[in-house]
Amino acid sequence: MKIGILGGGQLGRMLIQSALSYDDDFFVLDPSLDCSCAHISHFTQGDFNDYQTVYDFGLDKEVVSIEIEHINTEALFDLEAQGVKIIPSPKIISIIQQKILQKQFYQNKGIPSPDFQIIHSKSEANFPLPFVQKMNTGGYDGKGVQIIRTPEDLEKLWDVPSILESLVDIDKELSIIVAQNENGEIKTFPITEMVADPQLNLLDFNICPAQISENTQIQIEKIAQQFMHAAQSPGIFAIELLLDKEGKVWVNETAPRLHNSGHQSQEGNANSQFEQFYRTLKNLPLADTDIRTYSGMLNLVGENEYSGKVQYQGLDEVLKMPQTYVHLYGKKDTKPGRKMGHINVLANSREELMEKLITIKNKVKVVAE
Ligand code: ADP
Repeated sequence: MKIGILGGGQLGRMLIQSALSYDDDFFVLDPSLDCSCAHISHFTQGDFNDYQTVYDFGLDKEVVSIEIEHINTEALFDLEAQGVKIIPSPKIISIIQQKILQKQFYQNKGIPSPDFQIIHSKSEANFPLPFVQKMNTGGYDGKGVQIIRTPEDLEKLWDVPSILESLVDIDKELSIIVAQNENGEIKTFPITEMVADPQLNLLDFNICPAQISENTQIQIEKIAQQFMHAAQSPGIFAIELLLDKEGKVWVNETAPRLHNSGHQSQEGNANSQFEQFYRTLKNLPLADTDIRTYSGMLNLVGENEYSGKVQYQGLDEVLKMPQTYVHLYGKKDTKPGRKMGHINVLANSREELMEKLITIKNKVKVVAE
């Protein structure tokens, strides 16, 4: 099958890596000639935000999908009208693209998400402190999100269309990945937990299974089902969740695609998020997602103050460790904060898992030559 993917980053790369077990042709559109997918796919250099570029790219494909949501949806609607299968639906992508529409979607569908006010400019702000401002468009990886705590902070407000959202008193940040095929079959992955210990600065760990109560588990499973029934779209979705100190779960946001919080599924689960996503693209029976053992993931992120040809310090030491798996994304140059790869780890207990992740974190540095 001719499968087109908008975006050529690491998510697309690992999809293709996984799908090599089958017989398909992957076509990728990305502006960067040396993106992660450029040399492992039928590659087209071009802007996935441009209507004509996306339309022309998609027209001869049997299915078109995405690995980034900031793409031209108008072209996807028109391709769909021409009979090209688009996964996920252009409608759900366009809702998720805008935080305002996304929040209204949760509200209309009865999906728990923090209270909010929509503003079009700073002067409209009238929401109880403290709150979180999230730009309607253009935010990603923590950009476009700021906490406003005090009346003095109000001056920092960005003067752009945004939502102002109640600040959740966070106990844990969790994520659930859920997939649906065109036959309507739905399968979730075991819930993962982001470990954020400011003292150890472990902001990059994602572990599975999450240590949560049965009540939390039930709330999250209900949210996943509600979301999928409301979205009415095949594909894979990552629902990012905030568990508050009173045990209530709130949806932070949803990605209509593969997600960083699912990377440990490559070795940690019976099947990975990449295998599952592939199956949704072909409307195949969905794969089992059972946990094999404790698993965790650590992002390899470019160190501050280093830019240029990447060098991975300490990787040999990590490769000597058992049940440890290195995944690099084929990016030649590092920049501060750039996601260059990740390392998955398996262990027999949560304690052993944390120990291994901390050891690795201390051994590996992503620097420039
Ligand atoms: P991004 O799209 O950049 O991932 P998010 O909307 O996920 O942005 O926000 C980034 C982080 O901000 C979250 O991971 C969470 O720690 C924090 N955050 C977001 N919304 C809230 C909220 N309502 N209350 C408290 N913290 C929040």
